[in-house]
Amino acid sequence: MLNEAWKRRLIHIAHSGSGKEFNLKTRMAFPKTVLGQKIHQRKTMSYTFPWLHKIKGRVLQDELLASHTSIQIGGPADVLIFPEDAQDIQTIIKNRGKTPIYILGEGTNLLASDRGIRGIVISLKECFKEIKRPLFFKKEKEGGRRAIIKVGAGAKMSYLAKHAAKFSLTGIENLVGIPGSLGGVIIMNAGAEGTEIGSVLRSVTRINRNGEIEKLKREDLSFEYRKTAFPDEAGILIEAEIELKEGDRSEIMTAMDRHLSKRSQTQPLTIPNSGSIFKNPEGDAAGRIIDSLGLKGYSIGKAGISIRHANFIVNKGGATAKDVTELIKHVQKEVKEKTNIDLQTEIVIIGD
Ligand SMILES: Cc1cc2nc3c(=O)[nH]c(=O)nc-3n(C[C@H](O)[C@H](O)[C@H](O)COP(=O)(O)OP(=O)(O)OC[C@H]3O[C@@H](n4cnc5c(N)ncnc54)[C@H](O)[C@@H]3O)c2cc1C
Repeated sequence: MLNEAWKRRLIHIAHSGSGKEFNLKTRMAFPKTVLGQKIHQRKTMSYTFPWLHKIKGRVLQDELLASHTSIQIGGPADVLIFPEDAQDIQTIIKNRGKTPIYILGEGTNLLASDRGIRGIVISLKECFKEIKRPLFFKKEKEGGRRAIIKVGAGAKMSYLAKHAAKFSLTGIENLVGIPGSLGGVIIMNAGAEGTEIGSVLRSVTRINRNGEIEKLKREDLSFEYRKTAFPDEAGILIEAEIELKEGDRSEIMTAMDRHLSKRSQTQPLTIPNSGSIFKNPEGDAAGRIIDSLGLKGYSIGKAGISIRHANFIVNKGGATAKDVTELIKHVQKEVKEKTNIDLQTEIVIIGD
């Protein structure tokens, strides 16, 4: 009998096909399933990475993205890089040629395909995590103090909210339960209970497509529902400044406790998921609509609509991206037929 570790290893090897070898041009005979799990094996390796030794951070080849997304789904990435600093990112951009680059924060709003990613995935999970002490100041004509906090884009939103609360700063306590990194939260203009990150953002620093470090002011950005719009493509966010007001510390703490306890009662936090699947249509909640059609618990393969919250899809163990995308299509079809509403996805789907 194979233990779990061995099963995972076998599945990993079969998924990635080539093990650690690059430039695989020939098709190899791999099984279609291993231990009953369908394998999506790559046929060719399209890109080469002879410059990887220049990277100071961690580099993983053929790494399953399932280990790096909260829904625990995703095939192998050709290369997954955890840069150590901005210079590592600049090295990647300089050497990438035509290779596509994908950015991963905490992977809490992502669905990576079963075949994985042909190209480079950069994860900011291990860098740009610093949260600086707030710098307090007074605005003319305004009572009370305000503060600016400089934060690395890899810092977790929950840590940032708690850090702000420690200094009695109000404005992001509603976001304490969002499990993403600040970079992901900014890209998605994530929000909860009427607060969006866009409302407190003062500036972002990014590495642009030419590898230059560039600071964008709030006025350069526009904030939409679950999307921050950049003057061009977003690039790779590495740092941001947020501006908050001084408030009452115990009120801020109480509000954070209330948000966290509400989440634990209403969201399937103990089962792998990727947060809300659909954007809320104007004036309504996607979860309420899906629930009203009796779809809670409906499953395709190992992916199911959460019993706790109908806008969440949970991985019941071994779900594939295909299970999830089919379930998404099924919900969209049902909702369209019964209510004439077009549900749009909130999660970001990557890979082919
Ligand atoms: C249990 C649960 C509850 C959630 N609750 C909420 C909620 O209340 N409100 C809400 O809005 N969302 C919620 N989410 C969704 C998710 O946490 C947010 O969308 C969050 O902003 C995603 O951050 P991330 O770091 O995980 O980004 P990822 O999922 O890793 O990536 C999301 C997108 O951002 C891009 N990206 C990430 N980091 C960077 C960077 N540094 N530079 C450039 N691009 C980047 C990625 O390429 C991708 O396009 C929830 C998710 C879960 C699992």
